Amino acid sequence: MALEAVKVAVRVRPFNQREIDRQAKCVIKMDGQMTMIYNPDAPNEDPKKFSFDYSYWSHDGFRMTPDGSAEPVRGSTYACQRTVFDDLGQGVLNNAFEGYNCSLFAYGQTGSGKSYSVVGYGVNRGIIPITCDELFKTMSTNNDPNKRYEVLFSMLEIYNEQVRDLLSKDNPKGGLNVRQNPKLGMFYVEGLKKVPVGSYSEIEKRMEQGTQSRTVASTNMNATSSRAHTVVTIVFDQIIKTNNGETKKSSTMNLVDLAGSERADSTGATGDRLKEGANINKSLSALGNVISALADLSMGKKKVMVPYRDSILTKLLQNALGGNSKTIMIAALSPADINYDETLSTLRYADRAKKIQNKAVINENPLD
Ligand code: ADP
Ligand code: MG
Repeated sequence: MALEAVKVAVRVRPFNQREIDRQAKCVIKMDGQMTMIYNPDAPNEDPKKFSFDYSYWSHDGFRMTPDGSAEPVRGSTYACQRTVFDDLGQGVLNNAFEGYNCSLFAYGQTGSGKSYSVVGYGVNRGIIPITCDELFKTMSTNNDPNKRYEVLFSMLEIYNEQVRDLLSKDNPKGGLNVRQNPKLGMFYVEGLKKVPVGSYSEIEKRMEQGTQSRTVASTNMNATSSRAHTVVTIVFDQIIKTNNGETKKSSTMNLVDLAGSERADSTGATGDRLKEGANINKSLSALGNVISALADLSMGKKKVMVPYRDSILTKLLQNALGGNSKTIMIAALSPADINYDETLSTLRYADRAKKIQNKAVINENPLD
């Protein structure tokens, strides 16, 4: 069983209107795999430097085509949705066909570009839609009569430490239960809908349905951004006839759009919103603690307890972090000086995630 580090990508977005109105300065520079951040309060200080598997410059150098998609102008280094898919999504897809579990999660403060990269807006489709589209395209090229495919789709959100099924109309009060499989040790959501899908357009409809039923609450940071973690899961099975029966190669893909990583106090939240902030931070700080513990383990530290059980998010992402999965983290960055502290903390978070070692295996078993 080979150990493989979590792949980490960072991506910096264009200025938003608020940043333009406040005449924000860009504090991020990128050079190859390097990302540098300049402290606006200390202009003479050297920038802090980080190295990642991928550093995506999506700050400038693009133009809008008549259909509304952002594409690089000639000679620019703007990283568009397709570039990000080619590097990250295509790998997920190849691994899924080989029978590996894959996970991809997006981290960053509200408004930094997590949903843009993972889900996308309109014609600027993100990693999940393109990956699903390509999955069905690749499946349709199969001409082996002994091979068939099954795809299951589910979508949930974790909000205030409760799980809601985004494909279900009647969620129980208090949320769905998260249980542990006594044999395999893995956590799962009891009663979560897993719908069979036979085409990309069916997935598109389900994504739409799921997105509609998300809990949306506004904060000062971003009026429409969800304060919940959204998890899309695709189970991709390949059933192959052999001389003495059938075998099944199975891949579970977890695609996670995390809630904003900013501290509750910086969003001006009070009352219920503050409680949400605390719970969101509970899941995210648990994620941070799991990442730290795994980073310590991979650096040779002994007797480290990995606190997966501390939050719903870390229970459900257990395989993605230090387990049987090939995992990618994409950290979304605001370019603006006014977000310096949050962006620096995102870069540090991403830097720790690089150290996590996973142990992915091909999931292939005879069917009885
Ligand atoms: P988050 O999900 O982190 O809260 P969003 O993905 O919704 O943030 O992004 C906030 C805004 O910035 C959106 O209007 C989005 O279209 C824009 N944006 C984010 N990333 C990019 C990018 N790489 N290129 C162009 N626009 C982007
Ligand atoms: Mg979002």
